[in-house]
Amino acid sequence: MVYHKIDPRPELGITCIHPKQFEKQIRFLADQGYQFLTLEKLVASKSVNPKALAITFDDGYRDIHKCALPILKKYNAPATVFIITDYIGKENTWDVNLGWLRYEHLNEREIDSLIDEGWEINSHGTSHCSLRGLTEEEIIRELLRSKTMLQERFRQPIRFFAIPFGNVNERIRRLAIKTGYQGIAGFYPVKYFKNPLPPGVILRLAVYRTDSLMSIQQKISDNCMLLKEVLKQNAINFCSNATIMVNSLR
Ligand SMILES: [Zn+2]
Repeated sequence: MVYHKIDPRPELGITCIHPKQFEKQIRFLADQGYQFLTLEKLVASKSVNPKALAITFDDGYRDIHKCALPILKKYNAPATVFIITDYIGKENTWDVNLGWLRYEHLNEREIDSLIDEGWEINSHGTSHCSLRGLTEEEIIRELLRSKTMLQERFRQPIRFFAIPFGNVNERIRRLAIKTGYQGIAGFYPVKYFKNPLPPGVILRLAVYRTDSLMSIQQKISDNCMLLKEVLKQNAINFCSNATIMVNSLR
């Protein structure tokens, strides 16, 4: 699952979820018996667990530390955050300003604190630009600079790259693997669902303000069915680890 902002302030966009709504969703999943893992642990888990999932956050907003962390701690749910390295401790001036609000990104101390809580950090690029229009050299720079910075500053292995705007394509996938990433995370659904899923592609279910508990449950079960189809088509073992949402195909 992928979230963006968990913040009580109202916003015109759909990526901001009120902490109370977020807690309801986490409680709902916990009540259904889901086990929360970090992305690396989910991808690495060899045993098939139909109830394993990973909560991830793109962009690395400060409200995650303030609002999401206390809730996730209650449910013993370490999460994974994808950080934009040029914006650590700064406002989200890279984003279109919907309404009047600017949102701050996590600062270094807060990122350290999330790591201390058992969270995993990964890269969301250096500047949150769309990689699609860039040259190969420019893409490699985005991939490598952010990875190196995070590894050196936070002394954590950076295994995954969440592509800004979720647009995974083959060229970017190949370059991410070439620059040492284990996987590249995009949003579900992508065109790859119609074909065998390439190695390294991780699909996530985005949760928006408009989602209800029922729609989340529906997304999970649809995802299960689609993954079954993918498995049938190509029988690539990777697929069993290819989604953060469901780690098994019942
Ligand atoms: Zn983003």
